[in-house]
Amino acid sequence: SAKQLGRNHYKMFYETMNQEVVERLALESELRTALEQKQFILHYQPQVELATGRVRGLEALVRWRHTQRGLLMPDQFISVAEDADLIAPLGVQVLEMACRQIRLWMERGLPVERVAVNLSAHQLWEDDLAETVTEIMEKHGCPPQRLELEVTESVIMSSVEKGREALAKLHRLGVEVSIDDFGTGYSSLYYLKKLPFSVLKIDKSFVDDLPGDADSVNIVASIATLAHGMGKQVVVEGVETLPQLESVASCGCEIVQGFYFSRPLPPEEIERILSCDRRPFANRLPGARWVGTK
Ligand code: C2E
Ligand code: MG
Ligand code: MG
Ligand code: MG
Repeated sequence: SAKQLGRNHYKMFYETMNQEVVERLALESELRTALEQKQFILHYQPQVELATGRVRGLEALVRWRHTQRGLLMPDQFISVAEDADLIAPLGVQVLEMACRQIRLWMERGLPVERVAVNLSAHQLWEDDLAETVTEIMEKHGCPPQRLELEVTESVIMSSVEKGREALAKLHRLGVEVSIDDFGTGYSSLYYLKKLPFSVLKIDKSFVDDLPGDADSVNIVASIATLAHGMGKQVVVEGVETLPQLESVASCGCEIVQGFYFSRPLPPEEIERILSCDRRPFANRLPGARWVGTK
């Protein structure tokens, strides 16, 4: 009967819900253990300067070495950490790892100019973020100009005045500040002008439609012109193919981060790439003639 069917549907729905809740609770308690046991690692993705093929910086991206489930990506645990109030301690561990790595690479003479670390909304709104960052940099002997902090456009625009103050505090520490996933939020250009930051990261969603989609080409070119006009650097995210690379280059973008050049890699592999060549990606640039570049 229809009633019976309804009841069964309800039961199925309930069981699915229940399973999700149980999964999430399990993940939450595993996250606590993971924080205690330091199961998180960072991978680093090169940001390539198109004029030279040199690595201008690296973005640090967190991964979780789960004891049973293997290597977990941020999409699989960041939101759980946020909901469970664990994003602050996770953020501290990420900053610690990045600063320690920066210092280690400096000591080894590796040409790593800067490392970008992602901040969550929760971290940005903490009153003592600037103090926390200062403490961690000092603890590891990491010069502020080697650290870049990424905040997404939507987080800042969710509360522009507060966002401006938070960015100003970071800016005063001497770290670079970048606006991540730009173009997906709803920035008023008026506020963009007032925000203290030095790098604009154009979101991958625009790059996905290059080079075929004329609107996306125009948007990327306009963002690049706007940012350069304000004296900001532009980093384009998510470039996967040579036609996309050629397209962003002709839009005036000067720094590219994407699978076309490299996926995010463990520190050992970054070291291998950076220690053998000052311009490791020169032969992948548009128009490169695949000759020796050393
Ligand atoms: P995001 O900050 O925008 O980082 C870029 C993401 O795009 C990374 O995914 C990177 O692997 C991916 N990506 C880069 N180039 C390409 C490409 O050419 N093709 C494709 N398909 N993807 C590309 P990932 O590592 O999975 O990180 C996802 C998001 O998780 C990040 O987006 C960031 O919002 C967040 N996240 C990562 N690490 C941290 C962290 O330490 N703390 C916080 N709060 N969030 C983090
Ligand atoms: Mg980022
Ligand atoms: Mg991004
Ligand atoms: Mg993103």
